[in-house]
Amino acid sequence: MKKITIAIDGFSSCGKSTMAKDLAHEIGYIYIDSGAMYRAVTLYSIKNGIFQDDRIDTEKLKKLIDDIHISFRLNPETGRPDTYLNGVNVEDKIRTMEVSSRVSPIATLDFVRKAMVAQQQEMGKAKGIVMDGRDIGTTVFPDAELKIFVTATPEIRAQRRYDELKAKGEEACFDEILENVKQRDYIDQNREVSPLRKADDALLLDNSHMTILQQKEWLAEQFKRVTESK
Ligand code: C5P
Repeated sequence: MKKITIAIDGFSSCGKSTMAKDLAHEIGYIYIDSGAMYRAVTLYSIKNGIFQDDRIDTEKLKKLIDDIHISFRLNPETGRPDTYLNGVNVEDKIRTMEVSSRVSPIATLDFVRKAMVAQQQEMGKAKGIVMDGRDIGTTVFPDAELKIFVTATPEIRAQRRYDELKAKGEEACFDEILENVKQRDYIDQNREVSPLRKADDALLLDNSHMTILQQKEWLAEQFKRVTESK
């Protein structure tokens, strides 16, 4: 069967990654978490003194951007890809609240987006890819055959992130997470370069009251519909 490109965009913490990963696994496609790439740039920025309190030294980051290499390798234990920053596994380090609260301003920088989009397009050249993010259907792969735009209420998304952190045994405060979710929504939707928006030809999925299984079935149906019509 001819391979296609699948773009899954939407708000933060609405379960995009889980659904994208599971789908990729089932259909034998490559899964790429584009958010992990912006998180890795953020972690790099924290480690290399690019943040001065809340200010970002954009000139310094611009000089260093070509030294930031992000890749994904399958973790045989989880069966899912881990994120590597310059050869080091940073999968856990990029999921902390510190990175979450600093990532959106980094992702607004045009030279950061340009560098990441170029890497993402290279990864998807051969098709057979499921990529999730904010601008995949609009900017990275505007010709993707299947585009999904996922949303859920901010409270439900904050609860999911809270449960996720707690399950990992990490400290978590619901109000702080909800504030972070709302703040990221605002920055993502209002930035100048590639703001978060639904592509005209994307299917809308509000999963506020859906189980993971229901979502999985819905997605499998969409994949079947698109590939059968090819
Ligand atoms: O998906 P995740 O929440 O891990 O993404 C982290 C952040 O990276 C988002 O809040 C958003 O600011 C940014 N991002 C983006 N474009 C993408 C993916 C993520 O701007 N394609």
